[in-house]
Amino acid sequence: MSEWKDLRSLTMDELTEAVVGAGEKKFRAKQIYGWLHQKLVRSPEEMKNVPRDLLSRLTEDHPLYGVTEIERYVSGLDGTMKFLFRLHDGNLIESVLMKYKHGNSVCISSQAGCRMGCRFCASTLMGLARNLTPAEMLDQIYAIRSATGERVSNVVVMGTGEPFDNYESLSRMITILTDPEGMNLGSRSITVSTCGIIPMIYRFADEHPQVNLAISLHASNDATRRELMPVARSYGMDQLMEAARYYVDKTRRRITFEYSLVKGVNDHRRQAEELAGLVRGLNCHINLIPVNPIRERDYQQADTGHIAAFKGLLEQKHIQVTVRREMGRDISAACGQLRKGYKERNGER
Ligand code: SAH
Repeated sequence: MSEWKDLRSLTMDELTEAVVGAGEKKFRAKQIYGWLHQKLVRSPEEMKNVPRDLLSRLTEDHPLYGVTEIERYVSGLDGTMKFLFRLHDGNLIESVLMKYKHGNSVCISSQAGCRMGCRFCASTLMGLARNLTPAEMLDQIYAIRSATGERVSNVVVMGTGEPFDNYESLSRMITILTDPEGMNLGSRSITVSTCGIIPMIYRFADEHPQVNLAISLHASNDATRRELMPVARSYGMDQLMEAARYYVDKTRRRITFEYSLVKGVNDHRRQAEELAGLVRGLNCHINLIPVNPIRERDYQQADTGHIAAFKGLLEQKHIQVTVRREMGRDISAACGQLRKGYKERNGER
């Protein structure tokens, strides 16, 4: 439990327990929760109407650790902003603010680094440093909201890290983010993307049936998927599709499959056909992402013609499909371009 000790990681119920445990009235918990999750204060001193001694007693056991912005990059292409944040222990993470006509999305990281090892992804190159706490996930959203004044209408857990490799913190983060006493974001405005850790897909469907799920598929068969994603060696395609069907049946929600198109690896017509077969009859949406090349690997984007043909074939089979509009490529804010370190990025732009 120790990693959830942060004051901002406590649910309303837990905070109430802590406040009552400190000999104070319940309503103090509601006040503090409001300061933390609605007024988005960054230090206990800012909680004006809360007794000092209660705050110092609480923060002894439950320190308030936030993220600190150390750099911001703004895309000249589409206004996308990338934030480099430092955690209290010095680890660095990145988050992205994307502005759309229908509202703003914040893309948050769930881990510092990642241990999934997907071949095409920059976020995993240096391995996993550690899991983020619920507070550190929330504070990426809060810090961006406070620093820019922008409203946040959607949150996507698609930054660095594998959210289902940090399930407990993710789950708690969702509970707090959707709490009416907190930011009160609708569950339907949250999307979690996983590389396919199957047991957690079942748990997620059971525990958060209103939250959107995206699965990074990237292949139409086991052989190709294993080549691109080490996680596919533990979980086969058949079981993965079974889990996806469970999510759809259980939640009555459409599921998204992400499919990054890599030239000569997974962009063939045959693979589009195979993919169509895999998802037949499933309420889903396929999001094609022309792979963003990273300098450590020689994967290339599929040709425009191949992308169009791949999409066309799926459409012919009446499968909902879009090509993801890449945001912030000029500032390395696009899919797979987020990195753990600061120095690691030098020389990239
Ligand atoms: N770990 C989670 C979420 C993070 S990545 C997951 O795997 O889903 C968000 C999406 O970007 C995933 O679909 C991921 O596979 C994809 N991605 C990673 N590197 C990429 C790259 N270089 N080009 C395009 N998409 C990439």
